[in-house]
Amino acid sequence: MHFHLITIFPDVCRGYLDSGVIGRAQKTDKGKGAKVRGKQIDASVYNPREFATDKHRKVDERPYGGGPGMVMMAEPILKAWDKAVGKKTAALKKGKVKTLIMSPRGRMFTNELAKEWAKTYDHLVLIAGRYEGIDHRVKEILGAEEVSVGEYVLTGGELPALSIIDAVSRQIPGVLGTFESLEDERITNGQSYTRPEVLVHKRKKYPVPGVLMGGNHAEIEKWRKQA
Ligand code: SAH
Repeated sequence: MHFHLITIFPDVCRGYLDSGVIGRAQKTDKGKGAKVRGKQIDASVYNPREFATDKHRKVDERPYGGGPGMVMMAEPILKAWDKAVGKKTAALKKGKVKTLIMSPRGRMFTNELAKEWAKTYDHLVLIAGRYEGIDHRVKEILGAEEVSVGEYVLTGGELPALSIIDAVSRQIPGVLGTFESLEDERITNGQSYTRPEVLVHKRKKYPVPGVLMGGNHAEIEKWRKQA
């Protein structure tokens, strides 16, 4: 899977994309003892500002019809999209490219969608809005889908886009280590404990549930399955 993120804050996004599990999945050499080799994902970031034509590299303008705020102009975004996937003719023809516009009014993103997209597409283009949003013609021209990550409004589409890249990535075989994927499939009560056995916080003692210390694996499994 190749992710293409269109954002006017490329550095912030790059930092997140190159860290942790998502960062590791973009590397061919995953270090000593790695069970999985090769790259599972690619992540590219494009700044619409680089595709702006005027000398101030303007990417936003006042809305037609009046009203507050600014609107992101269509052309720099369309050019960034072209740079990202415009030449992927075969993938485009086969319907392997999906374009998403981040919007608080879009379809609600879920783990089910993450699984479906991970299976279906080779390229996911994510467009992060700012200000009052993006000129609506972008959606029309690119046949894009608007997607929301929750019923709240953020100042930009960067966190939504990164959330989607993160959730889709971990559905791609090999991105999570064998152990992590195993943990993901298991239904548990979501309670985990690690050292120390008795945590002392502000003079109060918080011990680990006794069952976990008893070494009875059947009992432990039973406890873990309790909701
Ligand atoms: N009044 C505008 C709000 C724009 S918020 C509107 O109704 O669309 C600025 C940008 O942040 C949006 O263009 C979108 O890209 C992003 N954004 C904000 N909240 C979001 C959410 N819950 N899900 C996805 N994107 C969101």
